[in-house]
Amino acid sequence: MNLPSGAQLLLGVLLAISISYLAYRLHSLSRAGAIAATFIGAIIFGLGGWQWSVLLLTFFISSSALTRAFKDRKHELDEKFSKGSERDAGQVLGNGGLATIFVLLNAIFPLHSWTWIGFATALASVNADTWATELGTLDPSPPRMIIDLRKRVEAGTSGGVSLWGTIAALLGASVIGSLAAVLYPNIHWPFFIWITISGLFGSLFDSFLGATVQAMYFCPKDQKETEKHPLHSCDTPTIHIRGWKWLNNDWVNFACSVSGVIAAQLMIHFFSYGF
Ligand SMILES: [Zn+2]
Repeated sequence: MNLPSGAQLLLGVLLAISISYLAYRLHSLSRAGAIAATFIGAIIFGLGGWQWSVLLLTFFISSSALTRAFKDRKHELDEKFSKGSERDAGQVLGNGGLATIFVLLNAIFPLHSWTWIGFATALASVNADTWATELGTLDPSPPRMIIDLRKRVEAGTSGGVSLWGTIAALLGASVIGSLAAVLYPNIHWPFFIWITISGLFGSLFDSFLGATVQAMYFCPKDQKETEKHPLHSCDTPTIHIRGWKWLNNDWVNFACSVSGVIAAQLMIHFFSYGF
């Protein structure tokens, strides 16, 4: 993890443009989403180099592929989610913003493991959350509310958790965690454990916010609770019913990665120095 060369920066920018354009053409990203992804990709590919790129691409490709694979099945649930399958700029920044900050920090403070752990944990958290969202809807039994596990809710409800979703979150975090351990100079397996557990924690924190303070709305026409605002999928204006108005799904995703990173740093502190 050394200073980037001019060639690496140029290659990074070209790679970011190519992948974002491809994702735009495949309808995985909206136009604004593709522009945001180009900036994030150029910074991570160009400044980070190939190890950092592998982690970002693992998140980006696996989550886009899962969203695509379950698009039809989720169609009926779509009104519950605030966004369709095309990711917009808010989603791209919410999912990739913290990882981008860590690659910038690594350019300022090279040769420190905390930048790599922070980067990997930020991605492990949003990867866990995305895998849980996409695969959790396949669970045959309805999810339960994370703040009250006796209470069953409809699939797709913010704050709902299921066994399949939680296993998917653990798998999603462990894929990033194992790559982060293997791609670190002199393979470092403790990273696998810390990053996987922290990523799972981040995705559960995401559900916790969804159940408590995330902005939720109501569509008077369909008589349904939704994350969508200002308009529901039926074009009816939605009414705010609970949660902090500014805390939309994009900020919840960002908070998911922040909480994962804090969990990882606390764990490292605990294992290195004790309490
Ligand atoms: Zn509606």
